[in-house]
Amino acid sequence: MGRRMTRLVQSDHGVRIETTAESGTEESCDGAPIHPTESFEGNYAIVTIPFSALRFCTVEPLMSYPKRRAVNELHYDSATKVLLEFKTRFWEQGKNGFTGGGCTSDSPSRKTYLPSHAPAGSPGGVVLASYSWSDDAMRWDSLTEGERVAFALDDMERLFGPVVRSSYAGVGVSQSWARARYALGEAVIFTPGQLHELHPATRTVEGRVHFAGEHTSLKPAWIEGALESAVRAFLEVHPR
Ligand SMILES: Cc1cc2nc3c(=O)[nH]c(=O)nc-3n(C[C@H](O)[C@H](O)[C@H](O)COP(=O)(O)OP(=O)(O)OC[C@H]3O[C@@H](n4cnc5c(N)ncnc54)[C@H](O)[C@@H]3O)c2cc1C
Repeated sequence: MGRRMTRLVQSDHGVRIETTAESGTEESCDGAPIHPTESFEGNYAIVTIPFSALRFCTVEPLMSYPKRRAVNELHYDSATKVLLEFKTRFWEQGKNGFTGGGCTSDSPSRKTYLPSHAPAGSPGGVVLASYSWSDDAMRWDSLTEGERVAFALDDMERLFGPVVRSSYAGVGVSQSWARARYALGEAVIFTPGQLHELHPATRTVEGRVHFAGEHTSLKPAWIEGALESAVRAFLEVHPR
């Protein structure tokens, strides 16, 4: 909604959320958030931002130690995608052609997904040339946008041959969730012990502040987990 929470203050009577306006785009580096702040007051707050983002917010008074530990220590994994647009769906042609599907290889791209349809205005379609996670994604994150596109194109050429370069529409984009400033990671992937030691505290209520989001559910990294947590948070807040 164009506002970033920077500070949450609660008292016996209510909560106040302080926000800043946003500056620039996901890719641009604009330094400190824009001031002045805008505040929102309420009886209760439901905080649904990832804990990796909450780490950069001031919460007053301090939350409980188990909650702070969960905020500080939960492991968020990396995920990065590189998408390339093609003028033709060359993978459907020839005697070995196929309609839609995915490939997994040991190349840096790791997973490649070929669409069975073309979006409006793109006769060939957009291929998810590289979808990588964890350490594999972090390698891609070190590269520039232009390098990511170039390396993903090279990998596709090794898989499918010269037709890749002749069919390439010249348009490629990438997205890194570890580098996205609203995500600060793909999603929670518990490291050994974290489900037992940290997860229970993700969903506990802190005074007038409730918590929802995939990271508070037992299906982290899934939309289902986010929805499940929304129902739980509603059931908590409604009686109050
Ligand atoms: C690459 C990738 C692939 C995925 N694939 C699947 C899949 O195939 N199936 C599936 O079920 N799930 C998938 N997921 C997981 C799914 O997208 C998430 O589990 C789900 O979106 C989490 O919802 P959420 O509401 O908890 O968090 P989010 O959708 O992350 O929402 C959190 C919101 O908080 C905002 N925010 C952050 N910081 C602040 C702040 N300080 N102030 C205000 N707002 C802030 C963010 O902008 C964001 O809009 C995938 C995720 C990724 C990254």
